[in-house]
Amino acid sequence: MPKMPKWVADAMESLVSNRFLKVVVSDCVYIHPSLKKITFSGDLRNIKFKTGQAVIFRVDDTNFRNYTPCVWDSASGRFEIIFHLHGRGPGSNYISGLQVNDTLLISPPRGFDFYKKKYNHHFFFGDETSIGFFKSLEQEIEGNGQQYTGILELNSDAALPDAFPGSRVKIVKASTTKAEQAIRFLQSIPEAQWELCKTGMFYLMGNARSIQAFRKAIKEKGISSKQIITQPYWVEGKIGL
Ligand SMILES: Cc1cc2nc3c(=O)[nH]c(=O)nc-3n(C[C@H](O)[C@H](O)[C@H](O)COP(=O)(O)OP(=O)(O)OC[C@H]3O[C@@H](n4cnc5c(N)ncnc54)[C@H](O)[C@@H]3O)c2cc1C
Repeated sequence: MPKMPKWVADAMESLVSNRFLKVVVSDCVYIHPSLKKITFSGDLRNIKFKTGQAVIFRVDDTNFRNYTPCVWDSASGRFEIIFHLHGRGPGSNYISGLQVNDTLLISPPRGFDFYKKKYNHHFFFGDETSIGFFKSLEQEIEGNGQQYTGILELNSDAALPDAFPGSRVKIVKASTTKAEQAIRFLQSIPEAQWELCKTGMFYLMGNARSIQAFRKAIKEKGISSKQIITQPYWVEGKIGL
């Protein structure tokens, strides 16, 4: 539940406080003016993490928000998250204000185990909110000698290619017609390359309407539902999915 009355939020936090993790901000880097990568440190020795799982932050008196670590190292007690600072909600504002040495409580990671190791090819589609998931997925894929390609639909594309040196992800500009440029790029993928993509797994994250449009497009190109994983992270006009 992303929003709740303050007394409920307080009661919930105190009930689960022994299960929440106390972490400290140890580094903040701006990949782009609207993308902040924060490194957190804490005692994570008994905490397990799987690619795509999210942690919950209490971002003010009444709101909780989900974010996905892109790096998680239980042994060294360190994890990183890439946050999209869109400036329209309490989550974005709270993250903007976080500074080195700030201390906070977060939930342990929760959610599905997204990475499907049995496939040799992986196809990723997402936006600013899912760059962290993509980075984490990329590490798993490369670590297992597998292949990937993908499309990032971004509002803030100008400086971003520099953030992905050597990456095989195509960056396209977001438009009001959701996933329009991404679908155009999809249609231009050469047949031989698409034959390879068709054997693999598709991960669609980020904006719910873009996911819907892109999912329809890949199904029309012969991808079956069981090859598609979707996880909406946000949608226009709704708070905290
Ligand atoms: C499982 C999960 C994992 C997630 N992981 C990440 C992550 O790693 N990094 C990350 O940045 N986000 C992530 N998100 C998305 C993030 O939780 C949402 O964007 C959330 O809505 C932000 O809260 P807020 O308080 O800033 O805005 P809200 O109060 O939720 O929304 C206020 C307004 O802003 C709009 N809005 C929300 N998000 C965006 C956006 N990104 N761009 C433009 N408008 C927006 C809403 O539609 C609404 O109109 C994740 C979400 C889920 C469900």
